[in-house]
Amino acid sequence: MERQRRVRSDVVSAGPPGDDISPELDRLIRQRGRDLRLRKVDQQNAVKIVNHLIESLLEFLKNNEDQPFFRNVSVLTSGSYYEMVKINKPNEFDIMLKLKVPRIEMSELEEYQGLFYNLKLVRATREEVRHFVLEDERTISASKIRDEMHRLVRKFISSHFKGKGWVICRKLINSPAVTLEFNNKEKEDDMMSVDIVPTLEVPQGWPQAARAGPNINNWLGKKCRRQLVSKAVYFVPKRPKGRNLKDDAKESWRISFSHIEKEMMQYHGNKKTCCESTSNKCCRKRCLQLLKCLIEGLKQRYPKELEPLCSYHGKTAFFHVLSDRVRDSLWSPGQLSVSFMNLFGYFERRVLDGSLPHFFVCHHNLFSPPAFPKKALAFLTNALKEQRELGLPVLKVPSPSATLVPDTDVTDIHPNPINGTDRIVAYEGSFWHVYIGLVVVIVCVGIRWVFQK
Ligand SMILES: [Zn+2]
Repeated sequence: MERQRRVRSDVVSAGPPGDDISPELDRLIRQRGRDLRLRKVDQQNAVKIVNHLIESLLEFLKNNEDQPFFRNVSVLTSGSYYEMVKINKPNEFDIMLKLKVPRIEMSELEEYQGLFYNLKLVRATREEVRHFVLEDERTISASKIRDEMHRLVRKFISSHFKGKGWVICRKLINSPAVTLEFNNKEKEDDMMSVDIVPTLEVPQGWPQAARAGPNINNWLGKKCRRQLVSKAVYFVPKRPKGRNLKDDAKESWRISFSHIEKEMMQYHGNKKTCCESTSNKCCRKRCLQLLKCLIEGLKQRYPKELEPLCSYHGKTAFFHVLSDRVRDSLWSPGQLSVSFMNLFGYFERRVLDGSLPHFFVCHHNLFSPPAFPKKALAFLTNALKEQRELGLPVLKVPSPSATLVPDTDVTDIHPNPINGTDRIVAYEGSFWHVYIGLVVVIVCVGIRWVFQK
């Protein structure tokens, strides 16, 4: 009987062999999938506000007198919003602003296995980028460009959006972005944030370390791979994590494939027709959304312990599974739970092995220290194991009664994996006061009535 009640997952190399999914878990995954579909509607207002901001910023940069290098910026749409996979915080936007540079030499920083580079102009130039080079007149300074982006955005906000709710966040040393936050005065919890990232477009081919990846021949085909690999490559002014960085690391750039990731998300089918109509819909994107949801949920619960974890780890695992589990029929909407548990199982095993190769720069392990310390990895291993054993409680949406309770964050006190339980208990507790109060009032009225007689 038990066997019949359970949904049998298909066994492919990416999934946990023979792993079964209980009807409860199946229901939870499908329910959460449906909730995620409804989120899109909420975003429309935020999109309008952000579009207005970015259009005005581009206009400002095009006409700015003090920094001609930034006059030719254009938007390289990327980031989760444009891929429709931003999850718990639908109002976070990433905007990459593309800056063009002449031919350059990319030199890899050895200890980071192909992810971080120093970028040097092939020869000294009279072009506007010359204001952002180091003393050797050729090395493009990541910190100078990041600082200038910051200064220009600050100037833009104070001249065009003063008192309109936008604030610039403090600069973070490891972040390539200028972060703006929007506080809605009418709805205080309706926050919005925009990360503006200056991005260099490098006109020549991919660096050596990225030539071997991505492994998509079986999934998207050889022709598609050739097309993707022939595209320009981008760099963002981000330095590696860790203390006591060498001087070249402080001025380094991190390679970015987000334009290609976006394209792979859009044309994700083994057959070109995937998701073109309702008859050939698939659940690939939904699976990534669920994994991101799980990652965000765990991070909210354990912000300190899981600080190094980010959605990019989930996205990377997702691409690896896609390149292995290629057939569109395996991802039909009816297979959502099986497909998601397959992805979850793959992710869990990568964590356990402490090895998650970057999808494009295969020699770089995203789970290697110092970027991902061993202690955090061990914590994540346990957290994922607990999630699997308890039926993914982190995916549970708080029950409606929990939202009636004053907003106290119970997870800070003791991280109960079952969402909302503590809140309901607290709610019942506060009812006791009402009962006792009522009894006191009735007794008082009774005594007064007796005395009046
Ligand atoms: Zn599809």
